[in-house]
Amino acid sequence: MASMLQPQIILLKEGTDTAQGKGQLISNINACTAVADAVRTTLGPRGMDKLVHDEKGNTTISNDGATIMNLLDIVHPAAKILADIARSQDSEVGDGTTTVVLLAAEFLKEAKPFVEDGVHPHNLIRSYRTASTMALKKIEELAVSIEGKSLDEKKQLLSKCAATTLSSKLIGGEKEFFASMVVDAVIAIGNDDRLNLIGIKKVPGGTMRDSFLVKGVAFKKTFSYAGFEQQPKKFLSPKILLLNIELELKSEKENAEIRLSDPLQYQSIVDAEWNIIYDKLDKCVKSGAKIVLSRLAIGDLATQYFADRDIFCAGRVAEEDLKRVAAATGAAVQTTVNNIIDEVLGSCEVFEERQVGNERFNIFSGCPSGQTATIVLRGGADQFIEEAERSLHDAIMIVRRAMKNSTVVPGGGAIDMEISKYLRQHARTIAGKSQLFINAFAKALEVIPRQLCDNAGFDATDVLNKLRQKHASGEGANYGVDINTGGIADSFANFVWEPAVVKINAINAATEAACLILSVDETVKNPKSESAQGEAAANAMAGRGGPAMRGRGGRGMRRR
Ligand code: ADP
Ligand code: MG
Repeated sequence: MASMLQPQIILLKEGTDTAQGKGQLISNINACTAVADAVRTTLGPRGMDKLVHDEKGNTTISNDGATIMNLLDIVHPAAKILADIARSQDSEVGDGTTTVVLLAAEFLKEAKPFVEDGVHPHNLIRSYRTASTMALKKIEELAVSIEGKSLDEKKQLLSKCAATTLSSKLIGGEKEFFASMVVDAVIAIGNDDRLNLIGIKKVPGGTMRDSFLVKGVAFKKTFSYAGFEQQPKKFLSPKILLLNIELELKSEKENAEIRLSDPLQYQSIVDAEWNIIYDKLDKCVKSGAKIVLSRLAIGDLATQYFADRDIFCAGRVAEEDLKRVAAATGAAVQTTVNNIIDEVLGSCEVFEERQVGNERFNIFSGCPSGQTATIVLRGGADQFIEEAERSLHDAIMIVRRAMKNSTVVPGGGAIDMEISKYLRQHARTIAGKSQLFINAFAKALEVIPRQLCDNAGFDATDVLNKLRQKHASGEGANYGVDINTGGIADSFANFVWEPAVVKINAINAATEAACLILSVDETVKNPKSESAQGEAAANAMAGRGGPAMRGRGGRGMRRR
């Protein structure tokens, strides 16, 4: 009865957990700083790598911000945003993933004292947005175009960009070797947007230097039957037939039923089957193709049949590889062997089955449309090759971006220092509190050169003072951290170049993320939706994890 006199307003379900106000905002900022601390030391050519191993015993060694953030499996709702921007930076531009996380966290860190002092987050957000817009405009002004250069010059410029990306990676020691390989690969595929036209094949063993580029397609020899060894393994200008059908004697389906009235009829059924496959094989041979590839199985009968006629065949070719063979050789994948006309056959200059390390590779080179390239990566440990592949992916993306947008900015913290200076100058012209906020944004940008110094073991304060002085003098716009001597150097002259999009995208995404986190002042944890999710995940994992795995579904996504 008493409760009727004093009605209680129940808005949220029992068990709902809310946290709000300044305390919540500060705790979000702290979480983001903690996340950034996890990747902080990987930045730059002297950055360290992280070894992440999961409960399944998979080990990954990586220097790539996005990869590490993904593997960390962050559960804090606000800090997850940082993982998201790292991922989006990775898919948008391919590089600068550590940069974007560091910037976002630093923007927040600089905002923290203001929030603690009671500044309304919206004032901060507004100033940060203005500062970011100005910074982006300034980058566009400062960026140097590489448009209108000859192909050779362009190649050189592009490989400088690729080398800068690679210099912070495990394979940085061989950056020139790989940079020119990447540039060749990207130029080979021309303006085609499909990234998967550049294949990367990993073959453990050998040294990094044994890696090579095939201007065409290469893939591992597929499973083969007896008779395969009699087939020729090298052709000059062969015709190539690509199929998506089985060339195999089919075993009867389990539920097939055939009624025979006369035992002699049995033979005719067996014969019919053989006739069908012989007819198919015959048509393949008649087409004039010397190489037959199929996405589906090519059985022992077919293998022997082709071997007798000096034809090379491979079954169960991965779809991706088959597509690349099609793109490179101009062949069209057939779903029937009836009416194979010359137009659907592809060709290339040389086909060869070659030994690479312990594996045999089918290599198609000198392809007419030339729009594919395959990098065969060699190296010691598996983890090493995996990381090398990720690094090459970054470099490939960077070269493609640079080719498209063709503007570059000086790296090594030079561009960051220059924008920082510019914003500080601008801040001085503003009356009011936003002067402080824009200054905070400018100061946050210095995190890049500072971290580069820290990671290399230099005195960051010393180097930063030198850089500030140089940039303020008005003629040091290209000066950044000299990673070799611990002083400062003209990044442009040293060819430490980055495509402008990397910086533009990083500053943009980091500002957005910081503003997003600043605009949140309440977190509500709804018990119902969480347990429902957990249950669904637990059901999906029934028998594997049980209750212990609750709420873990959907996360732990791996990159690639
Ligand atoms: P991200 O994941 O953000 O790309 P990296 O570990 O690749 O992080 O580091 C990139 C940073 O390292 C960039 O700011 C770039 O300018 C800098 N950098 C790369 N090579 C050099 C170099 N040779 N000297 C100085 N700075 C470099
Ligand atoms: Mg990088």
